[in-house]
Amino acid sequence: MGGKELDFVREAFESNYIAPVGPQLNAFEDEFAQEVGTDYAVAVSSGTAALHLLLRYVGVVAGDEVFCSSFTFVASANPILYLGARPVFIDSDRQSWNMDPELLAEELVRLDKQNRLPKALVLVHLYGQPADIDPIKGICDRYEIALIEDAAEALGATYKGKAPGSYGRAGFYSFNGNKIITTSGGGMIVSNDKALIEKVRFWSTQARDEAVHYEHTEMGYNYRMSNVLAAIGRGQLRVLKKRVEGKRQIFKHYSEELGALPGISFMPEPDYACSTRWLSCAIINPETAGFSRDAIISRLEENNIEARPTWKPMHLQPLFEEYETIGGGVCGELSEKGICLPSGTGMKADDLDRILSIIKSCWD
Ligand SMILES: *Cc1c(COP(=O)(O)O)cnc(C)c1O
Repeated sequence: MGGKELDFVREAFESNYIAPVGPQLNAFEDEFAQEVGTDYAVAVSSGTAALHLLLRYVGVVAGDEVFCSSFTFVASANPILYLGARPVFIDSDRQSWNMDPELLAEELVRLDKQNRLPKALVLVHLYGQPADIDPIKGICDRYEIALIEDAAEALGATYKGKAPGSYGRAGFYSFNGNKIITTSGGGMIVSNDKALIEKVRFWSTQARDEAVHYEHTEMGYNYRMSNVLAAIGRGQLRVLKKRVEGKRQIFKHYSEELGALPGISFMPEPDYACSTRWLSCAIINPETAGFSRDAIISRLEENNIEARPTWKPMHLQPLFEEYETIGGGVCGELSEKGICLPSGTGMKADDLDRILSIIKSCWD
Protein backbone atom coordinates (compact mmCIF):
# COMPACT_ATOMS: atom_id res chain seq x y z
CA MET A 1 0.00 0.00 0.00
CA GLY A 2 1.13 3.51 -0.72
CA GLY A 3 -0.06 5.44 2.35
CA LYS A 4 -3.27 7.28 1.41
CA GLU A 5 -5.48 4.17 1.05
CA LEU A 6 -6.69 4.06 4.67
CA ASP A 7 -7.69 7.72 4.56
CA PHE A 8 -9.99 7.06 1.62
CA VAL A 9 -11.31 3.84 3.21
CA ARG A 10 -12.03 5.82 6.38
CA GLU A 11 -13.98 8.33 4.27
CA ALA A 12 -16.01 5.44 2.84
CA PHE A 13 -16.75 4.16 6.34
CA GLU A 14 -17.62 7.56 7.70
CA SER A 15 -20.02 8.24 4.82
CA ASN A 16 -21.45 4.72 5.42
CA TYR A 17 -21.20 3.83 1.73
CA ILE A 18 -19.96 0.24 2.08
CA ALA A 19 -22.00 -1.41 -0.67
CA PRO A 20 -21.34 -0.97 -4.37
CA VAL A 21 -21.84 2.61 -5.57
CA GLY A 22 -20.85 5.63 -3.56
CA PRO A 23 -18.62 8.69 -3.77
CA GLN A 24 -15.32 6.74 -3.67
CA LEU A 25 -16.39 4.66 -6.65
CA ASN A 26 -17.34 7.71 -8.70
CA ALA A 27 -14.12 9.48 -7.76
CA PHE A 28 -12.00 6.41 -8.59
CA GLU A 29 -13.60 6.15 -12.03
CA ASP A 30 -13.07 9.85 -12.74
CA GLU A 31 -9.47 9.82 -11.56
CA PHE A 32 -8.74 6.63 -13.48
CA ALA A 33 -10.19 7.94 -16.75
CA GLN A 34 -8.04 11.01 -16.33
CA GLU A 35 -4.95 8.88 -15.66
CA VAL A 36 -5.31 6.84 -18.87
CA GLY A 37 -6.76 9.68 -20.97
CA THR A 38 -10.21 8.33 -21.83
CA ASP A 39 -13.57 10.06 -21.49
CA TYR A 40 -15.10 7.37 -19.28
CA ALA A 41 -14.32 4.51 -16.92
CA VAL A 42 -16.44 1.88 -15.12
CA ALA A 43 -15.07 0.02 -12.09
CA VAL A 44 -15.97 -3.67 -11.87
CA SER A 45 -15.19 -6.70 -9.72
CA SER A 46 -12.34 -8.04 -11.89
CA GLY A 47 -10.54 -7.71 -15.19
CA THR A 48 -12.17 -10.95 -16.27
CA ALA A 49 -15.64 -9.49 -15.61
CA ALA A 50 -14.62 -6.40 -17.60
CA LEU A 51 -13.74 -8.49 -20.65
CA HIS A 52 -16.92 -10.55 -20.36
CA LEU A 53 -19.03 -7.36 -20.44
CA LEU A 54 -17.07 -5.89 -23.35
CA LEU A 55 -17.23 -8.99 -25.54
CA ARG A 56 -20.98 -9.15 -25.01
CA TYR A 57 -21.31 -5.44 -25.80
CA VAL A 58 -19.51 -5.72 -29.14
CA GLY A 59 -21.96 -8.45 -30.10
CA VAL A 60 -20.02 -11.67 -29.60
CA VAL A 61 -22.46 -14.58 -29.51
CA ALA A 62 -22.22 -18.38 -29.51
CA GLY A 63 -20.34 -19.71 -32.51
CA ASP A 64 -18.53 -16.43 -33.32
CA GLU A 65 -14.77 -16.37 -33.67
CA VAL A 66 -12.72 -14.01 -31.49
CA PHE A 67 -9.02 -13.43 -32.13
CA CYS A 68 -6.81 -13.31 -29.04
CA SER A 69 -3.11 -13.11 -28.23
CA SER A 70 -1.82 -16.59 -27.45
CA PHE A 71 0.96 -15.42 -25.13
CA THR A 72 -1.08 -14.35 -22.11
CA PHE A 73 -2.79 -15.38 -18.89
CA VAL A 74 -5.92 -17.52 -19.28
CA ALA A 75 -8.25 -14.66 -18.20
CA SER A 76 -7.75 -13.04 -21.65
CA ALA A 77 -9.51 -16.01 -23.25
CA ASN A 78 -11.93 -17.44 -20.68
CA PRO A 79 -14.66 -14.83 -21.31
CA ILE A 80 -14.68 -15.84 -25.00
CA LEU A 81 -15.78 -19.28 -23.80
CA TYR A 82 -18.35 -17.80 -21.38
CA LEU A 83 -20.18 -16.49 -24.46
CA GLY A 84 -19.92 -19.77 -26.32
CA ALA A 85 -17.61 -18.19 -28.89
CA ARG A 86 -14.44 -19.72 -30.34
CA PRO A 87 -11.01 -18.21 -29.63
CA VAL A 88 -8.41 -18.14 -32.40
CA PHE A 89 -4.94 -17.61 -30.98
CA ILE A 90 -2.37 -15.36 -32.67
CA ASP A 91 1.38 -15.69 -32.18
CA SER A 92 3.76 -13.01 -30.87
CA ASP A 93 6.52 -11.08 -32.58
CA ARG A 94 10.03 -10.95 -31.13
CA GLN A 95 10.22 -7.14 -30.76
CA SER A 96 7.35 -6.83 -28.28
CA TRP A 97 6.50 -10.44 -27.31
CA ASN A 98 2.91 -9.36 -28.09
CA MET A 99 0.59 -10.03 -31.05
CA ASP A 100 2.41 -10.01 -34.40
CA PRO A 101 0.68 -7.38 -36.62
CA GLU A 102 1.99 -8.85 -39.90
CA LEU A 103 0.86 -12.34 -39.09
CA LEU A 104 -2.54 -10.93 -38.09
CA ALA A 105 -2.85 -8.95 -41.33
CA GLU A 106 -2.05 -11.98 -43.49
CA GLU A 107 -4.63 -14.09 -41.70
CA LEU A 108 -7.36 -11.45 -41.96
CA VAL A 109 -6.74 -10.95 -45.68
CA ARG A 110 -7.14 -14.70 -46.10
CA LEU A 111 -10.31 -14.89 -43.97
CA ASP A 112 -11.85 -11.85 -45.67
CA LYS A 113 -11.74 -13.72 -48.99
CA GLN A 114 -13.67 -16.56 -47.36
CA ASN A 115 -16.11 -14.20 -45.62
CA ARG A 116 -15.04 -15.58 -42.25
CA LEU A 117 -13.82 -12.51 -40.36
CA PRO A 118 -13.82 -12.62 -36.55
CA LYS A 119 -16.22 -10.45 -34.59
CA ALA A 120 -13.67 -9.09 -32.11
CA LEU A 121 -9.99 -9.10 -31.25
CA VAL A 122 -8.52 -9.20 -27.74
CA LEU A 123 -5.12 -7.52 -27.85
CA VAL A 124 -2.96 -8.21 -24.80
CA HIS A 125 -0.21 -5.91 -23.52
CA LEU A 126 1.89 -8.45 -21.66
CA TYR A 127 4.17 -7.90 -18.66
CA GLY A 128 3.58 -4.14 -18.83
CA GLN A 129 4.68 -3.88 -22.46
CA PRO A 130 2.40 -2.34 -25.11
CA ALA A 131 1.75 -4.33 -28.27
CA ASP A 132 2.23 -2.48 -31.57
CA ILE A 133 -1.29 -1.02 -31.46
CA ASP A 134 -1.41 1.27 -34.55
CA PRO A 135 -1.07 -1.36 -37.29
CA ILE A 136 -3.38 -3.73 -35.40
CA LYS A 137 -5.98 -0.99 -34.91
CA GLY A 138 -5.63 -0.10 -38.60
CA ILE A 139 -6.43 -3.64 -39.70
CA CYS A 140 -9.31 -3.96 -37.21
CA ASP A 141 -10.81 -0.69 -38.47
CA ARG A 142 -10.47 -1.79 -42.10
CA TYR A 143 -12.35 -5.05 -41.47
CA GLU A 144 -14.73 -3.64 -38.83
CA ILE A 145 -13.48 -5.94 -36.09
CA ALA A 146 -14.02 -4.64 -32.54
CA LEU A 147 -10.64 -4.06 -30.91
CA ILE A 148 -10.63 -4.71 -27.16
CA GLU A 149 -7.38 -4.06 -25.32
CA ASP A 150 -6.41 -6.27 -22.42
CA ALA A 151 -4.21 -3.83 -20.52
CA ALA A 152 -4.58 -5.76 -17.24
CA GLU A 153 -0.80 -5.93 -16.85
CA ALA A 154 0.03 -2.61 -18.51
CA LEU A 155 -1.35 0.20 -16.36
CA GLY A 156 1.24 2.98 -16.29
CA ALA A 157 2.82 2.07 -19.65
CA THR A 158 2.69 4.27 -22.74
CA TYR A 159 2.41 3.57 -26.46
CA LYS A 160 3.50 6.60 -28.53
CA GLY A 161 2.87 8.72 -25.44
CA LYS A 162 -0.63 7.44 -24.60
CA ALA A 163 -1.92 4.65 -22.39
CA PRO A 164 -2.34 1.19 -23.92
CA GLY A 165 -6.00 0.41 -23.24
CA SER A 166 -7.12 3.81 -24.52
CA TYR A 167 -6.79 3.07 -28.26
CA GLY A 168 -9.36 0.36 -28.93
CA ARG A 169 -13.14 0.40 -28.94
CA ALA A 170 -12.60 -0.21 -25.23
CA GLY A 171 -9.85 -1.39 -22.91
CA PHE A 172 -9.66 -2.88 -19.46
CA TYR A 173 -7.30 -3.13 -16.50
CA SER A 174 -7.03 -5.38 -13.45
CA PHE A 175 -6.42 -4.59 -9.79
CA ASN A 176 -5.85 -8.17 -8.73
CA GLY A 177 -3.35 -8.61 -5.90
CA ASN A 178 -0.41 -9.30 -8.22
CA LYS A 179 -0.90 -6.30 -10.54
CA ILE A 180 1.03 -3.04 -10.45
CA ILE A 181 -1.65 -1.43 -8.28
CA THR A 182 -4.31 -3.40 -6.47
CA THR A 183 -7.67 -3.11 -4.73
CA SER A 184 -7.25 -6.75 -3.55
CA GLY A 185 -9.44 -7.62 -6.53
CA GLY A 186 -11.09 -5.48 -9.18
CA GLY A 187 -11.06 -4.23 -12.73
CA MET A 188 -11.73 -1.13 -14.81
CA ILE A 189 -13.29 -0.65 -18.24
CA VAL A 190 -12.28 2.45 -20.19
CA SER A 191 -13.66 3.88 -23.42
CA ASN A 192 -14.59 7.10 -25.18
CA ASP A 193 -17.90 5.57 -26.24
CA LYS A 194 -20.63 6.85 -23.92
CA ALA A 195 -23.26 4.34 -25.04
CA LEU A 196 -20.85 1.45 -24.40
CA ILE A 197 -20.00 2.74 -20.94
CA GLU A 198 -23.63 3.22 -19.96
CA LYS A 199 -24.58 -0.25 -21.13
CA VAL A 200 -21.76 -2.14 -19.40
CA ARG A 201 -22.38 -0.20 -16.18
CA PHE A 202 -26.08 -1.18 -16.43
CA TRP A 203 -25.27 -4.87 -17.01
CA SER A 204 -22.72 -4.86 -14.15
CA THR A 205 -25.46 -4.08 -11.61
CA GLN A 206 -28.01 -6.76 -12.58
CA ALA A 207 -29.46 -4.74 -15.49
CA ARG A 208 -32.07 -3.09 -13.37
CA ASP A 209 -34.44 -0.92 -15.41
CA GLU A 210 -35.56 2.46 -14.11
CA ALA A 211 -38.53 1.45 -11.99
CA VAL A 212 -39.00 1.27 -8.24
CA HIS A 213 -40.38 -2.28 -8.42
CA TYR A 214 -37.22 -3.94 -9.85
CA GLU A 215 -38.02 -4.39 -13.51
CA HIS A 216 -35.63 -6.40 -15.74
CA THR A 217 -35.66 -6.52 -19.51
CA GLU A 218 -32.08 -7.71 -20.04
CA MET A 219 -29.82 -10.26 -18.39
CA GLY A 220 -27.28 -8.68 -16.05
CA TYR A 221 -24.45 -9.62 -13.70
CA ASN A 222 -23.25 -8.74 -10.22
CA TYR A 223 -19.97 -7.28 -11.47
CA ARG A 224 -19.73 -3.83 -9.88
CA MET A 225 -16.78 -2.82 -7.71
CA SER A 226 -17.57 -1.89 -4.10
CA ASN A 227 -17.16 1.63 -2.83
CA VAL A 228 -14.68 0.40 -0.16
CA LEU A 229 -12.37 -1.22 -2.70
CA ALA A 230 -12.56 1.88 -4.88
CA ALA A 231 -11.24 3.83 -1.88
CA ILE A 232 -8.16 1.57 -1.85
CA GLY A 233 -7.82 2.08 -5.61
CA ARG A 234 -7.76 5.87 -5.21
CA GLY A 235 -4.87 5.60 -2.77
CA GLN A 236 -3.05 3.20 -5.08
CA LEU A 237 -3.43 5.47 -8.11
CA ARG A 238 -1.40 8.07 -6.25
CA VAL A 239 1.64 5.77 -6.12
CA LEU A 240 1.35 4.40 -9.67
CA LYS A 241 4.13 6.59 -11.08
CA LYS A 242 6.42 5.60 -8.22
CA ARG A 243 5.65 1.92 -8.79
CA VAL A 244 6.45 2.18 -12.48
CA GLU A 245 9.75 3.90 -11.73
CA GLY A 246 10.55 1.23 -9.15
CA LYS A 247 9.76 -1.60 -11.59
CA ARG A 248 11.82 -0.02 -14.36
CA GLN A 249 14.71 0.45 -11.94
CA ILE A 250 14.60 -3.23 -10.97
CA PHE A 251 14.65 -4.25 -14.64
CA LYS A 252 17.55 -1.90 -15.35
CA HIS A 253 19.52 -3.36 -12.48
CA TYR A 254 18.98 -6.94 -13.68
CA SER A 255 19.83 -6.16 -17.28
CA GLU A 256 22.97 -4.18 -16.40
CA GLU A 257 24.22 -6.86 -14.02
CA LEU A 258 23.29 -9.92 -16.06
CA GLY A 259 22.92 -8.73 -19.65
CA ALA A 260 26.49 -9.52 -20.69
CA LEU A 261 26.43 -13.14 -19.48
CA PRO A 262 26.35 -15.74 -22.28
CA GLY A 263 22.90 -17.02 -23.20
CA ILE A 264 20.71 -14.47 -21.43
CA SER A 265 18.70 -11.79 -23.22
CA PHE A 266 16.17 -9.48 -21.65
CA MET A 267 12.69 -8.65 -22.92
CA PRO A 268 13.21 -5.93 -25.54
CA GLU A 269 11.42 -2.58 -25.41
CA PRO A 270 10.34 -1.32 -28.85
CA ASP A 271 10.94 2.36 -29.76
CA TYR A 272 7.22 3.14 -29.60
CA ALA A 273 6.84 1.84 -26.05
CA CYS A 274 7.54 2.73 -22.49
CA SER A 275 6.95 -0.54 -20.66
CA THR A 276 6.25 -0.62 -16.93
CA ARG A 277 8.44 -3.74 -16.61
CA TRP A 278 5.66 -5.10 -14.40
CA LEU A 279 7.71 -8.27 -14.33
CA SER A 280 11.39 -8.37 -15.28
CA CYS A 281 11.55 -11.07 -17.95
CA ALA A 282 14.46 -12.68 -19.77
CA ILE A 283 15.18 -15.55 -22.14
CA ILE A 284 17.78 -18.19 -21.34
CA ASN A 285 19.22 -19.90 -24.37
CA PRO A 286 20.42 -23.28 -23.03
CA GLU A 287 22.89 -23.89 -25.89
CA THR A 288 24.85 -20.74 -25.07
CA ALA A 289 24.26 -20.57 -21.31
CA GLY A 290 24.94 -24.26 -20.72
CA PHE A 291 21.80 -24.67 -18.63
CA SER A 292 18.08 -23.96 -18.92
CA ARG A 293 15.93 -21.32 -17.25
CA ASP A 294 14.61 -24.10 -15.00
CA ALA A 295 18.10 -24.36 -13.48
CA ILE A 296 17.88 -20.70 -12.43
CA ILE A 297 14.38 -21.17 -11.02
CA SER A 298 15.59 -24.19 -8.98
CA ARG A 299 18.71 -22.41 -7.76
CA LEU A 300 16.57 -19.48 -6.55
CA GLU A 301 14.03 -21.88 -5.05
CA GLU A 302 16.81 -23.58 -3.01
CA ASN A 303 17.36 -20.14 -1.51
CA ASN A 304 13.67 -19.61 -0.80
CA ILE A 305 13.27 -17.10 -3.65
CA GLU A 306 10.43 -17.46 -6.11
CA ALA A 307 10.90 -17.02 -9.86
CA ARG A 308 8.58 -18.40 -12.53
CA PRO A 309 8.55 -19.47 -16.13
CA THR A 310 6.87 -17.01 -18.52
CA TRP A 311 3.18 -17.70 -19.28
CA LYS A 312 2.38 -20.94 -21.05
CA PRO A 313 0.65 -19.82 -24.28
CA MET A 314 -3.06 -20.44 -24.66
CA HIS A 315 -2.65 -22.52 -27.81
CA LEU A 316 -0.68 -25.09 -25.77
CA GLN A 317 -3.25 -25.30 -22.96
CA PRO A 318 -5.37 -28.45 -22.76
CA LEU A 319 -8.43 -26.20 -22.25
CA PHE A 320 -8.06 -24.77 -25.75
CA GLU A 321 -6.91 -27.91 -27.56
CA GLU A 322 -9.76 -27.86 -30.05
CA TYR A 323 -9.27 -24.24 -31.17
CA GLU A 324 -7.28 -22.78 -34.03
CA THR A 325 -3.88 -21.09 -33.76
CA ILE A 326 -2.11 -18.81 -36.22
CA GLY A 327 1.64 -19.40 -35.92
CA GLY A 328 2.65 -20.24 -32.38
CA GLY A 329 6.37 -20.92 -32.72
CA VAL A 330 7.53 -17.56 -31.37
CA CYS A 331 5.52 -17.51 -28.16
CA GLY A 332 6.12 -21.25 -27.83
CA GLU A 333 9.84 -20.53 -27.70
CA LEU A 334 9.40 -17.51 -25.39
CA SER A 335 7.48 -19.71 -22.97
CA GLU A 336 10.03 -22.54 -23.13
CA LYS A 337 13.01 -20.29 -22.45
CA GLY A 338 11.49 -17.36 -20.59
CA ILE A 339 11.86 -16.54 -16.92
CA CYS A 340 10.09 -13.92 -14.77
CA LEU A 341 12.53 -12.70 -12.15
CA PRO A 342 11.49 -11.40 -8.71
CA SER A 343 10.06 -7.94 -9.46
CA GLY A 344 8.36 -6.68 -6.29
CA THR A 345 8.97 -3.00 -5.62
CA GLY A 346 9.08 -3.87 -1.92
CA MET A 347 12.52 -5.47 -2.44
CA LYS A 348 15.43 -3.73 -0.75
CA ALA A 349 18.77 -3.12 -2.46
CA ASP A 350 20.41 -5.99 -0.57
CA ASP A 351 17.53 -8.35 -1.50
CA LEU A 352 18.25 -7.58 -5.12
CA ASP A 353 21.99 -8.04 -4.63
CA ARG A 354 21.41 -11.42 -3.03
CA ILE A 355 19.14 -12.50 -5.92
CA LEU A 356 21.72 -11.31 -8.44
CA SER A 357 24.58 -13.21 -6.83
CA ILE A 358 22.52 -16.42 -6.74
CA ILE A 359 21.58 -16.04 -10.40
CA LYS A 360 25.20 -15.30 -11.36
CA SER A 361 26.31 -18.44 -9.51
CA CYS A 362 24.53 -20.49 -12.20
CA TRP A 363 27.27 -19.40 -14.61
CA ASP A 364 30.14 -20.47 -12.29
C1 LIG B 1 -4.75 -10.46 -14.38
C2 LIG B 1 -5.07 -10.54 -15.82
C3 LIG B 1 -6.39 -10.56 -16.30
C4 LIG B 1 -7.60 -10.70 -15.41
O1 LIG B 1 -7.75 -9.82 -14.41
P1 LIG B 1 -8.50 -10.26 -13.03
O2 LIG B 1 -8.74 -8.96 -12.37
O3 LIG B 1 -7.54 -11.14 -12.28
O4 LIG B 1 -9.75 -10.96 -13.41
C5 LIG B 1 -6.61 -10.52 -17.66
N1 LIG B 1 -5.60 -10.51 -18.53
C6 LIG B 1 -4.32 -10.52 -18.13
C7 LIG B 1 -3.25 -10.45 -19.17
C8 LIG B 1 -4.00 -10.55 -16.77
O5 LIG B 1 -2.72 -10.60 -16.39
